[in-house]
Amino acid sequence: PYVKSMEIIDRPNITYAEIGGLEEQIRELREVVELPLKKPELFREIGIEPPKGVLLFGPPGTGKTMLAKAVANESNATFIHVVASEFAQKFVGEGARIVKEVFEMAKKKAPSIVFIDEIDAIGAKRIELGTSGEREIQRTLMQLLSEIDGFKALDNVKIIAATNRIDILDPALLRPGRFDRLVEVPLPNTEGRKEIFRIYTQKMKIEENINNEILANMTEGFSGADIKNSCVEAGYIAIRNDRNVVTMNDMLEAIDKIQKKKSINKGIER
Ligand code: ATP
Repeated sequence: PYVKSMEIIDRPNITYAEIGGLEEQIRELREVVELPLKKPELFREIGIEPPKGVLLFGPPGTGKTMLAKAVANESNATFIHVVASEFAQKFVGEGARIVKEVFEMAKKKAPSIVFIDEIDAIGAKRIELGTSGEREIQRTLMQLLSEIDGFKALDNVKIIAATNRIDILDPALLRPGRFDRLVEVPLPNTEGRKEIFRIYTQKMKIEENINNEILANMTEGFSGADIKNSCVEAGYIAIRNDRNVVTMNDMLEAIDKIQKKKSINKGIER
């Protein structure tokens, strides 16, 4: 039986058009993941090897998972989603077995993209391997590295990993032939925020005076996820007030609420 923690989507339905403000990242992923999956012959002819693995790094909620799903969709590839913190198992040998099963599945379902979220949970550098738990995590990482080393760059399996903590990753993961392409996914700038507001408000019933530029200007520090939450919250405010249209005021109130939530969370982190 395959692991519960592995989610397999034959073809995700997210498209590049639904992602705001990450044009450069999309361009790069198309070149290093989509193109080699779709046209490996181009690379064979020219005689170069595309990366086997790409590491997406940046703060939470910035669209890393979305990007990986969109690349799978636009490459016609099966999307195999695993969360590395769930590999860190209680039983000896379990983590390594899961890694093996994931890659068996990836080969069976190829062309495929294995997306490993929170890779830092198994890929953090360790100075000591004191406890049995730490040794078990280390064995899981070794298994992952050997799986990656075991297939060829132009086999139709690609690995995309994501982390918020690139600073703590074991350099072994970043060696050539492994995750040797790093793509930063930062918080959106004003232009990006405007684009993300546009993406979500265009699906909503809104008053004409809603101005995405103003909304973008007042949401410095918001991630894409924060912007989406603000739009959903504004919808709730309208419903609560028995209206079927969202107003600019609803948007402002919602942004204020999300802003407050963010500063509370920050306080907790500190
Ligand atoms: P985490 O590190 O917390 O796993 P992530 O970077 O993988 O976060 P996603 O899961 O892709 O972030 O984003 C969460 C949600 O926020 C998405 O489902 C989407 O609705 C929204 N979102 C985030 N970034 C964007 C973006 N750039 N454009 C449009 N929507 C976005």
